[in-house]
Amino acid sequence: MHESIKFLKQQLETLKLSGVDYISKNTSSLRHHEESQRDDVVISETEIASVPPKSADGSADGFVADASLPRNDNVTYSKTFGPKKELLSLRETAFLCKKCEELAAKRTTVVFGAGNARAKLMFVGEAPGHDEDLQGLPFVGKAGQLLTKIIESINLSRNEVFICNVLKCRPPGNRNPNPDEIINCEPYLKKQIEIINPDVICALGTFAAQVLLKTGQSISSLRGKFHDLNGVPLMCTFHPAYLLRNPEEKRKVWEDTKMIRSKLQELSSSQTNPVGTNTPFKWGLTP
Ligand code: SF4
Repeated sequence: MHESIKFLKQQLETLKLSGVDYISKNTSSLRHHEESQRDDVVISETEIASVPPKSADGSADGFVADASLPRNDNVTYSKTFGPKKELLSLRETAFLCKKCEELAAKRTTVVFGAGNARAKLMFVGEAPGHDEDLQGLPFVGKAGQLLTKIIESINLSRNEVFICNVLKCRPPGNRNPNPDEIINCEPYLKKQIEIINPDVICALGTFAAQVLLKTGQSISSLRGKFHDLNGVPLMCTFHPAYLLRNPEEKRKVWEDTKMIRSKLQELSSSQTNPVGTNTPFKWGLTP
């Protein structure tokens, strides 16, 4: 019963994020949770559904089991509920979200994010583009392929990191996100970071860097050093799409990536101060 109350509280919290102010007395969602207690980790890039998951049993909802990266066992999320289930619940809420009227009307699907629910490294980009909107996955296409190479250059795979965007819906014509859309969607990103609790975050491009750091500084001045994001080291670097247009800047991204690799190694070898593991990430849950 205690877990059910906790789950109900979680559901109400995430529904509130999407602007829901009324719910019926239907308790199917609660029963659904009680029937599924598995704690799988990876939101599969290849199997992720482009519609809200119909089952949370780990077999038919686009989530696959991968407990290869057990970590963060002493942070804010409960062990019984688990980060994957929290992400799944948040994703269901995002799929129903219509806080941005224009984006909700014109999107093909919500691009929630994909990767490991216990990732040590989290990438945050700007917003879904045309391909991402069609496939429901972040960073596909040529820019996504380049990001994959960047990830693999530090001996990680896309299933070992988590990739998402500031905005979960595509701005029509790939226009820049509006300030009110950023405000609307930011709670989802904050909640994702809180659930995953990464050791390091990498902001890809000017937009993500400025939103996360609440600054108007250029990406050129922000990159090349770690910033503190509520206790989590944040590296800013150029967006892969920018690199495709300006390949001469790849060296700078490689330098930033090497710094991320060193930081991850430093944190994983530390027994006394593993930032992002013993220090719970605190954003505050409401906008
Ligand atoms: S961009 Fe974010 S806040 Fe706006 S409708 Fe999509 S999920 Fe909701």
